[in-house]
Amino acid sequence: MLINSQTLLIGIIGNPLEHSLSPRMHNLTLSKMGLDYIYVPLEVAPNWLGEAVAGLKALNFKGVNVTIPYKKAVIPYLDELSPEALACGAVNLIKNENGYLTGYNTDGRGFMASLAEEGVGSIKRVVLIGAGGAAHSIAYELAIAGVEQISILDLDEAKACELARFVESLPAGKADGAQMSDELFSRLSQNADLIINCTPVGMYPDVDNTPVRSLNNVQPDTVVYDLIYNPISTRFLSIAQANNLKTINGLSMLVHQGALTLKILTGATPPITYMKEVVLNNY
Ligand code: NAP
Repeated sequence: MLINSQTLLIGIIGNPLEHSLSPRMHNLTLSKMGLDYIYVPLEVAPNWLGEAVAGLKALNFKGVNVTIPYKKAVIPYLDELSPEALACGAVNLIKNENGYLTGYNTDGRGFMASLAEEGVGSIKRVVLIGAGGAAHSIAYELAIAGVEQISILDLDEAKACELARFVESLPAGKADGAQMSDELFSRLSQNADLIINCTPVGMYPDVDNTPVRSLNNVQPDTVVYDLIYNPISTRFLSIAQANNLKTINGLSMLVHQGALTLKILTGATPPITYMKEVVLNNY
């Protein structure tokens, strides 16, 4: 990679960033695409967020991804939000066009692209475990795609109900929220076409943990999705596999939301298969 005064800048702001796979995934992909860009990790201290965003304009960054803990906090510094970022109240991508900053949220669209890639269609009933940031973006996309019912379970009942109310506020959105329990999960999952783990339970280093202990009651054609990509196969997914259910891990969503980032910032279409190889080779 040869960097000179013509090289265009993109990056990621968050804190901490030491485990982020994004810089490697994006730099290798940009190079493969023959684009003269570099993708820089920018670890920002909380009291410098405003200055950091202003600095993106001063330094003519073309855009940045935004990750934990700034997906909401960054919004007051932006000029405009895309419809999904506005609805979800969270931004994971900022595009800079001559100092005008637009916030996007590519998580939900990345999730939907991964479902399409896996050939998963005609979803009617979904159980979402966890009601945090990722669940918000996914619930939004599922609702506007016309899913009939989204059941949301979280340790915190208020969070689950709040997300359900958000879905119900969307045209044709239908949802219910409740506190997570084995009994309720077992009942709701019996009729689900898709069950999604939107919690960090089971993520490295907590790899022996799982948000649910049994999937014995689900229908044989139910798809089980875990947003976690480290490890690539979680204990939750191994329970699903032991029940002969179709499983999807978080790698495909990670790559698709990353591909959307590059498409929005550069206008070019990134090579999905290559991006997956890069991520798989860098665990
Ligand atoms: P988050 O905002 O912290 O939300 C997680 C939610 O799950 C919280 O509301 C949490 O409740 C709840 N929760 C925790 N344990 C639970 C349990 N046992 N049962 C039910 N609910 C539980 O996190 P996030 O940003 O949405 O991310 C969630 C996961 O998705 C992470 O593992 C993240 O790495 C992954 N992710 C993957 C991708 C991808 O591209 N593949 C993209 C985004 C996120 P409390 O707040 O009460 O703990």
